[in-house]
Amino acid sequence: MKAHPRVVIVGGGFAGTAAASRLARRSVAEVTLLDPKARCEMLPLLPDIAGARLSSAGGGTPHHALAASHGYRYLQQAAIEIDRDAKRVISADGTALPYDFAILAHGARTAYYDNRAAELYARPLRSVADALQARKRVARPAYRRLLVVGGGYTGVELATHLHRLHRLYAQSPPSVGRPQPPSSVILVELADEILGAQEPRMQHFARTHLEALGVEVRTGTSVTDVTPRAAVLSDGTRLDDTVTFWTAGIQVIPPRGAAARTTGPGRLVVDEYLRLGAGLFAAGDAAGFTHGGAPLPPASYLAVQQGIAVAANIARAAAGRPLKPYRPLVHGIIIPVAGGSGCARIHGLPLSGRPAAALHYAATAARAHSRAQRAAIIRDLLRPPLSAPAGQMAAR
Ligand SMILES: Cc1cc2nc3c(=O)[nH]c(=O)nc-3n(C[C@H](O)[C@H](O)[C@H](O)COP(=O)(O)OP(=O)(O)OC[C@H]3O[C@@H](n4cnc5c(N)ncnc54)[C@H](O)[C@@H]3O)c2cc1C
Repeated sequence: MKAHPRVVIVGGGFAGTAAASRLARRSVAEVTLLDPKARCEMLPLLPDIAGARLSSAGGGTPHHALAASHGYRYLQQAAIEIDRDAKRVISADGTALPYDFAILAHGARTAYYDNRAAELYARPLRSVADALQARKRVARPAYRRLLVVGGGYTGVELATHLHRLHRLYAQSPPSVGRPQPPSSVILVELADEILGAQEPRMQHFARTHLEALGVEVRTGTSVTDVTPRAAVLSDGTRLDDTVTFWTAGIQVIPPRGAAARTTGPGRLVVDEYLRLGAGLFAAGDAAGFTHGGAPLPPASYLAVQQGIAVAANIARAAAGRPLKPYRPLVHGIIIPVAGGSGCARIHGLPLSGRPAAALHYAATAARAHSRAQRAAIIRDLLRPPLSAPAGQMAAR
């Protein structure tokens, strides 16, 4: 092997950029990171951006700037194939990138569970562009209702932000030409309770909070059809003048040839070193790492931990030292809701109200990818929440 091994990283989210920056900083590898998106995006802030609580300024950092500041190469390309025999990553433009080590950190996508209509017409929330689209939809006079599908933490948080934005539109003085907002927000969840994976205390917090806001929560319900302006629920209810937002789960779709065992949503089963095989690692949402008998949940801080752990193991392997098993440090979960409240369990400690929300924003700002991004997030958070005139919201 050469003095500086070639490392190709597929995906520049939390895991991929954490690995790239660590490897480049230690000058132990020639690092190339591929991502078709031009910006590294802060997914945990998308509900706030959709609800116009935060501007899009804190939502991402350009990859070229990150790569230049840390000293690695960035290609704005998707990886379409991993040739494990020849140890090459093939990008969408046909370039073959030879590697000594590769890291699959391509994250997850929205899962539609073969609901083709939902895939076509329901709005996902996986990028800043999706969040800004959601914001625009709330302002459209064409929609009387906002339907959020999926009662996990993203669906709960999004429903509260869209509701808040809708209220802001409704409260601002009428003006000629200003669109009238939709009249209600509905959250549907297939399981018998929202936040099904969480403890009853959190489920109770979320349900009480949503109902106090006036968000209608329908559990044991799915969506059977979606059109651009309507949706049909599994109990036969037809919702007209409705725009549908889809947060009902994730799936992992790796490049061809990744050839690995997968968990339910397609996460790639890794060993204790986060390896898929010789020289090939996975990290973040793409990786299915079992801890305490269950796969680790998708979470930004775990993705960062895994990116760092993989980078350290690549540095060890390059130096001919034995690899170290990845030992996750699981902090817990925070369910933030619009209006600066939330519910959490952190290292066994229950938290609710403002402290839970403050912790969520502090942790997210701490994970910002650049100083400029962190400053933009903090600036927005310090701005009084209700200060923006509704007419300016779509532009921020
Ligand atoms: C709306 C929302 C809210 C969330 N809130 C929280 C929260 O409050 N707290 C928390 O801890 N987690 C939260 N999460 C989850 C968290 O964002 C993810 O767990 C985290 O982003 C995973 O990081 P990652 O690096 O694995 O993947 P990602 O951050 O998804 O990055 C993957 C990158 O890979 C790129 N990519 C995809 N395919 C390819 C390919 N073929 N070739 C090259 N590049 C590719 C993508 O463009 C993307 O940039 C939230 C997620 C969402 C969507």
